[in-house]
Amino acid sequence: MLTKIWKVDNYVENLYTYPQIKEAANELRKNELVAFPTETVYGLGANAHSDHAVQKIYRAKGRPSDNPLIVHISKKEDVDKYALEVPEKARKLIEQFWPGPLTIILNVKQGLLSTYVTAGLPTVGIRMPSHPVALALIEASGLPIAAPSANLSGKPSPTTFQHVNNDLHGKIAGIVDGGETGVGVESTVIDCTEGTPVILRPGGVTREEIENIIGPVAMDKQVKEVVDQPKSPGMKYTHYAPDAPMYLVEGSPTYIQQLVNNSRNQGKRVGVLTTDEQKNYYKADVIVCCGKRDHLSTVAHNLYSALRQFNDKKINIIYSETFPREGIGVAIMNRLLKAAGHRVIKE
Ligand code: AMP
Ligand code: MG
Repeated sequence: MLTKIWKVDNYVENLYTYPQIKEAANELRKNELVAFPTETVYGLGANAHSDHAVQKIYRAKGRPSDNPLIVHISKKEDVDKYALEVPEKARKLIEQFWPGPLTIILNVKQGLLSTYVTAGLPTVGIRMPSHPVALALIEASGLPIAAPSANLSGKPSPTTFQHVNNDLHGKIAGIVDGGETGVGVESTVIDCTEGTPVILRPGGVTREEIENIIGPVAMDKQVKEVVDQPKSPGMKYTHYAPDAPMYLVEGSPTYIQQLVNNSRNQGKRVGVLTTDEQKNYYKADVIVCCGKRDHLSTVAHNLYSALRQFNDKKINIIYSETFPREGIGVAIMNRLLKAAGHRVIKE
């Protein structure tokens, strides 16, 4: 299939009236797939009303069909179109964090959205993104847009047009190129269907920011695991993974270098995922820097791009530094643990 590319200037006024956006929106209305930038990562959009359109997402990504999709809207009030009810705490979160990187799980109104969006659950995840291109495209389409990240399932999420093009060229109708995304990790997912809201996935909005607005929230078991630093017994699946196996190392650069040396002595080509502050400590085959420890938001911004840089370098093993498990660091460690299949080495 021919994949059209629409290059846009993110910051022009009335973007939704531009021909590129109109054409892209038209493809969405024809139930085709269009990838577009959001402030978190690139999304792969489809008409959320249409079974046919939404099924194409699962096919293009190779995504398991039991993993529900987030519905993207361009106006806060549209939440009432698709949610059965919006509890008080959810309203407060919407007022504070929309548009922005927060997905709210609510009970779904039956019969409006494709059941492939919700994977048959009685709930739906809804978010209003803040990226001007995402907002313009949703607005121009006049549709709720179901959109997971625009990568092949299992690969790091795309934060540039190039990442999307590498994974999905020829498989989707088009890509809106709006340059690099901002936050770099996905939205925070919070379930507001029960009394105490539960963070299901850490992301662009931190637990601390949420608790400042609505008081205590709970953390899902999987998120807790990140914060509590388990003695991780290795898990079988990976997500966001680079091509070579990765190990997270809780230890000093000197210790990491010892691990690198041991692997190289076994004839392996070794990669290191590091930071500006510590990059000069290492001698390895490929060294990738993902930002500044002092500013963890830079690490979030660069993380997926950094993971992709190890591919095509004939690396056999990657050792990665780890990060403080607070603020945006919770989201970073959650993604790194998944990328490493929960393999952690402690000094
Ligand atoms: P992705 O769009 O690939 O970044 O993933 C969407 C995330 O939202 C996944 O972690 C889903 O499991 C989660 N999600 C979407 N809808 C629901 C829902 N109705 N209930 C629980 N989690 C959801
Ligand atoms: Mg994803």
